[in-house]
Amino acid sequence: MKYDYLIVGAGLYGAVFAQQAMAHGKTVLVIDKRDHIGGNIYTENVEGINVHRYGAHIFHTNNQEVWSYITRFATFNRYTNSPVANYRGELYSLPFNMYTFNKMWGVITPDEAQAKIEEQKAEAHITEPRNLEEQAISLVGTDIYEKLIKGYTEKQWGRPCTELPPFIIKRLPVRLTFDNNYFNALYQGIPIGGYTAMIERLFEGAEIRLGVDYLEQKEALDALADTVVYTGSIDAYYGYRFGELQYRSVRFETELLDTANYQGNAVVNYTDRETPFTRIIEHKWFEFGKDQDGNDLPKTVISREYSSEWKSGDEPYYPVNDEKNNALYTRYKALADNEPNVIFGGRLGEYKYYDMDVVIAVALDRAKAIFGETL
Ligand code: UDP
Repeated sequence: MKYDYLIVGAGLYGAVFAQQAMAHGKTVLVIDKRDHIGGNIYTENVEGINVHRYGAHIFHTNNQEVWSYITRFATFNRYTNSPVANYRGELYSLPFNMYTFNKMWGVITPDEAQAKIEEQKAEAHITEPRNLEEQAISLVGTDIYEKLIKGYTEKQWGRPCTELPPFIIKRLPVRLTFDNNYFNALYQGIPIGGYTAMIERLFEGAEIRLGVDYLEQKEALDALADTVVYTGSIDAYYGYRFGELQYRSVRFETELLDTANYQGNAVVNYTDRETPFTRIIEHKWFEFGKDQDGNDLPKTVISREYSSEWKSGDEPYYPVNDEKNNALYTRYKALADNEPNVIFGGRLGEYKYYDMDVVIAVALDRAKAIFGETL
């Protein structure tokens, strides 16, 4: 049987594209080298808790079209992300807001906080921020940069903040209000029942083969479909012919604990340089809401997150979108643009630090360009 589409990678991009293709009457074959669907948003149930096996995923968007679309496949809870930063035992609210400024400087009003930031910015003599360090200091001043940003960022990215692009820190809001909501998004939540169930619904009707490595048997698999939707790493697709793109990989140490409440919050970031992990996730708090029925579950699952430079054999998570890598990506993209009957999509296929809502938007746009409308 010949399929219209071979979807390589059963993550979010592949699932949205497959759903659209099937809705337009196309046949799809989905393959993934892992033994499960969902890509990095995969969740698995452990003692009644949906564990985000490949790191915390919190859905948030301002895109009405994306929200209307994805809520057809999942009901979202009212989880609001408000991580806590732990700097050598001092706890701060995130994102940077009046609670953070009050704890850091003792300031009470927004004017006082603003003045403090301006004073520190002026001392650092930054006019046009050229890197993450300068961008961070000009947004929140030196104290917050030193305690809450520098160590965490250098652990997460394995590079000095002076060598990282400013846009990474611009993901975080800075607010002169008492608001611990991490995202500036109209819609936010976690799918009730976990992300895996949502992906299953998107793939409904598709044939899925797990444990299949596309690049190992590319020719035979290509012969099965008219068009390939490839969501793996773009440099791997081309056999690294121009050299390897850099990625950050993440390792999780996950534990099931005999305690109902380990840290009182889904996300606690360890922002000092010495603690070897970047954050601890307590998965149950994504689901139940704080101080609600979560405490009825006598156990909890936590994951410590360790960041490392990707090397062959590791799972790639974050593209390193600095100038050097973006330039290399441009060379691969030029090949991809001329690749007949292959669509490259997703964080790895497009080498972009995408949030989930953007992945959905891009996949829907791509499908719309082909099929004419979103169904
Ligand atoms: N960041 C930081 N301190 C924190 C949290 C985040 O300095 O406590 C910076 C860090 O540079 C990180 C960026 O903000 O890479 C983006 O963080 P986000 O939480 O969006 O990253 P993700 O959840 O995608 O890993």
